[in-house]
Amino acid sequence: MTQRMMNFSPGPAALPLQALEEARAELLDFQGTGISILEHSHRGKDYEAVHEEAKSLLRELLQIPSNYRILFMQGGAAAQFALVPMNFLHAGQSADYIMTGVWSEKALGEAKILGQTRIAADTKEEGSYRRVPRAEEIQIDPSAAYAHMTTNNTIYGTQFHYVPESGAVPLIADMSSDIAWKPFDVSKFGLIYAGAQKNLGPAGVTLVIVREDLLERVRSDIPKIFRYSTIAKEDSLQNTAPTFAIYMVRNVLKWLKGQGGLAAMETRNRNKAAMLYDAVDSMSDFYRCPVEKASRSTMNAVFRLPSEELEKRFVAEASARRMVNLKGHRSVGGIRVSLYNAIEPAWVESLVAFMKEFAQTQG
Ligand code: PMP
Repeated sequence: MTQRMMNFSPGPAALPLQALEEARAELLDFQGTGISILEHSHRGKDYEAVHEEAKSLLRELLQIPSNYRILFMQGGAAAQFALVPMNFLHAGQSADYIMTGVWSEKALGEAKILGQTRIAADTKEEGSYRRVPRAEEIQIDPSAAYAHMTTNNTIYGTQFHYVPESGAVPLIADMSSDIAWKPFDVSKFGLIYAGAQKNLGPAGVTLVIVREDLLERVRSDIPKIFRYSTIAKEDSLQNTAPTFAIYMVRNVLKWLKGQGGLAAMETRNRNKAAMLYDAVDSMSDFYRCPVEKASRSTMNAVFRLPSEELEKRFVAEASARRMVNLKGHRSVGGIRVSLYNAIEPAWVESLVAFMKEFAQTQG
């Protein structure tokens, strides 16, 4: 086999080797059935066991309370941008949005097509986002149908390190790029969604965790297939589920559990982020992080070099050393290092060593 790369991609992101090896080992013959998991019926008992295991691992590892339902959906996080207002924004109501980046802008854009919206906070300055709002900057309308936030801003490298207080208004969170990075209190949210392809598995499935009482508020004037209540009632099997993607999520969760669960992930992720940011800060005449310190993301660290020319060279030379996908998002430029759960601390050590060498030779 060719040697695997140190893949710092923002998503689809590197998966734990163990999860991939497990899939390879049983790809042709799933647990002695003579049929691949790719070929099993989504209604058969073999797949059903996988579906149940994925849900029960999620419930255990994320400590999801019993009054929350776990759904597997398709269409990515982007479909959730539309489904949230379709389901919960009733005629005559307004929904609040906390604006922290392009993904919140897209979520707001879909909601505006469907109904009234209001901005509860916005940290855009000079065309970009360098921080998340402080708690006192967020003003939630107490009569809002819900309040929407993006917990980690994949493009800008910013992250909420607290959960905004929303009172009785259901807080809805896009956690695509930081779900399961550490233990967190699910009960502070009405609904959580996350595309799997960063911290949970491959592209093709989106995890939704929804508080049961909200299912009663779902609009009945939208097609049934788009109602969270339908997906919950049918246990995500209202139509053919993305079986292989859910199977891979199960493999990733098994790895996560073996690593010691979310508490162990938090230590691992904080250490990786500290290594990276310490390197940036200790070479501040060469590397510069544009993000306000209190908003720095543990999942996507972004920084700039003195010129775009040097940034290009940095990416190319890192790539020659098997460290790939370090280019910042095309809308903001610079360097972006994604540090999701599966990223090995040793890769970050290699990257930091390279950063020192590059600053010495090019600085
Ligand atoms: N929200 C966030 C925070 C993201 O990072 C992304 C993808 N990078 C999306 C939403 C869109 O996800 P998808 O491509 O699964 O629709």
